[in-house]
Amino acid sequence: MAHTETCCERVSELGGWHSHPCTKPVKVIRDGKPYCTIHDPEREKARIASKCYYRVLGAYCGEPAVDTEYGYGRCAVHTERYLETQRRLQAAAPALLEALETIADQADRATGVEPRHGSLLLQTFALIAKEARDALAKA
Ligand SMILES: [Zn+2]
Ligand SMILES: [Zn+2]
Repeated sequence: MAHTETCCERVSELGGWHSHPCTKPVKVIRDGKPYCTIHDPEREKARIASKCYYRVLGAYCGEPAVDTEYGYGRCAVHTERYLETQRRLQAAAPALLEALETIADQADRATGVEPRHGSLLLQTFALIAKEARDALAKA
């Protein structure tokens, strides 16, 4: 099988308008194609698996990967399992907050505190509920 003396990849020039063949010497043959060290597909694969490629506000996370998904690295907080847990918590949050308020209400009745005067328990729960809602709104 014929292969050139140089890497088979093309390299984008500054600004990305043009590209030219990579001029670096061949270091490895993959699937019959010659590659330099930088363009070695196996090296590239290892590279994208080593860092977290989850997008956060338009940029890659970049933390060291602890796992890979679809070949891309994922750090400890961006694994699909963690994200799924986050989604479940977010979905469950409104019901949890409602339950919290119901408990506070019942606690006030049980202790004979007039709800409109507000017990310390109710105020605390209301504060927690407000902070949780703010956090969810930002998420
Ligand atoms: Zn190359
Ligand atoms: Zn990450």
